[in-house]
Amino acid sequence: MSTTAGRLRHDHCERDWIWEREIEAATWEETRRLGAGAWERQFRRIRESSGFYARKWREAGVGNSFVSLADLSQLPFTTKDELRQALEESPPFGSNLCVAPEQVKRVYQTSGTTGAPSVLALTRGDMESWTVMGTRTYYATGIHEHSSVLTTFGAGPFVAGHTHFVLLRIGTRSVPVAPGDTERVVFGLKAGLADTLLSTASFAQYLANRLEKSDPEPSAIPLTHVVTGGEPGGGIPAIRDHIQRVLGVTVTEVMGIGDVAPSLFGECPHQQGMHFCGAGHVWVELIDPDSHEPMEIETGAVGELVYTALTREAMPIVRFRGSDIVRIEGTSCECGRTSFRQRVMGRRDDMFIVRGVNVYPAAILSVVSEFRPRVTGRARVVRSSDATSIEPPIPVEVEVTERHESDPALAADIENAIHSRLMFRSRVTLVPEADFGEAGYKTSLSRKQPSP
Ligand SMILES: [Zn+2]
Repeated sequence: MSTTAGRLRHDHCERDWIWEREIEAATWEETRRLGAGAWERQFRRIRESSGFYARKWREAGVGNSFVSLADLSQLPFTTKDELRQALEESPPFGSNLCVAPEQVKRVYQTSGTTGAPSVLALTRGDMESWTVMGTRTYYATGIHEHSSVLTTFGAGPFVAGHTHFVLLRIGTRSVPVAPGDTERVVFGLKAGLADTLLSTASFAQYLANRLEKSDPEPSAIPLTHVVTGGEPGGGIPAIRDHIQRVLGVTVTEVMGIGDVAPSLFGECPHQQGMHFCGAGHVWVELIDPDSHEPMEIETGAVGELVYTALTREAMPIVRFRGSDIVRIEGTSCECGRTSFRQRVMGRRDDMFIVRGVNVYPAAILSVVSEFRPRVTGRARVVRSSDATSIEPPIPVEVEVTERHESDPALAADIENAIHSRLMFRSRVTLVPEADFGEAGYKTSLSRKQPSP
């Protein structure tokens, strides 16, 4: 194994590139044993103190005896809607609060993409386990003690704010900038305050587009590493390659789930998908999104990830459906980590069916991105109803630079490319940058439009 097996290209530091080698490079048997031990304690805690799970399990006919980790599939799933109801019936922390309110030491809110914001309560122990998982995650991307990291994550209200504790734990230089303050991001990067940028893929793409226009040599800016999160874009080859080429950087991605942990998966510099970094604190299952049957986590498997918190004190979750459909990219890696690697294909709710074939909007994004520089790289599907099955042509909005606002040939070229690559007909509308919407935060991959 070469000494650079898990490092970024220009990193020659002496530290081990795996933060907790005894856990992250453990055998499957050791990992399972670690999880099973934690689950025994967690099961007891939930039985004793969660009104929410007491009722839920009773209603599902779960008996009084211990359910082992191996038999986890005997317990019912938990959905986002149920967690929201639990909050509403007993505010402010809900019927799933398993500690005294005085033990709640930090409160985040979720972005509430569907409805009102949710509240996430953490004990001191919860904050620590989130920091542990986050540290493994960001360290896996190649961020080390000598890194200088510019972030636009506010301390709150969102869970991404927890990343500040993680950077402190790794020991990096931190350069916090307010969310949306693009001018200061550009200044900080050009001035050499940071060599690493944490942002959404949309923002990194926007930055690359902007600097490509305004700067004679954007790759000369002393930025070497961009870590994207919050949306799947960083894992889409055409988007990743563009950011890497224009900015002269390595792009790796991270992923978390607000209700589970803000950083739970981190991609190592081999760029082959995100490693699961939550061993001992979170248990992951893969299920078939339609039949809900458990699936083997093996290379090539495509399914929905389901999460169980093994150490969470304030608001434990059991078999929480994360809604992300992922592809398992592998179960070993040259870096030495033994956890599985995955790439997100899309949200379960964003998926639609054309003539019997499942389509994720990210696949359309991947085709559209190849039309740069005429397009910016953003696109979305317009849905006129909640029906999962859609008749072609599928309406797609594609963001274009001003010069290509009315370019019928471009629209036709994209429609043809979608047809030949994804096997369905589409109707492409070109939308100028000014009308597509804010580029700073996440870009929604589909847009609901009421039918006429
Ligand atoms: Zn790896």
